Amino acid sequence: MASPRSGVGAALDLDAVERELRARDAALRERLTALSRPPERGAELGFGKRIGDGTTEAVSRLNDVAVGSSLEASQARITRALAKLADGSYGLCDGCGGAIAAPRLQAAPESVLCIECARLAR
Ligand SMILES: [Zn+2]
Repeated sequence: MASPRSGVGAALDLDAVERELRARDAALRERLTALSRPPERGAELGFGKRIGDGTTEAVSRLNDVAVGSSLEASQARITRALAKLADGSYGLCDGCGGAIAAPRLQAAPESVLCIECARLAR
């Protein structure tokens, strides 16, 4: 029986893909948990400190936030890819419904968009 998945299933070991995605998901969760802990020295800020100290702290905090939101974006893609594995649409583009090239999935198993749609979404 022909199905849109047959090409993807033939080229990829979906069980291995799922294991890989779950491992990445767990690693990201750990890093996000570490980042979301309140800063230990935060309570001291704003009183009796030179401006330079607070600025450095603020910049490092901003970097943490930027890293955190990019980790969250990665995690959202992984969660979506796992949902697609579960509902049988893994390997099909969320944008156009076309097949995502197998080499792209092998390089980045969390891909939920084909190359064309990913470029347009940027
Ligand atoms: Zn597409």
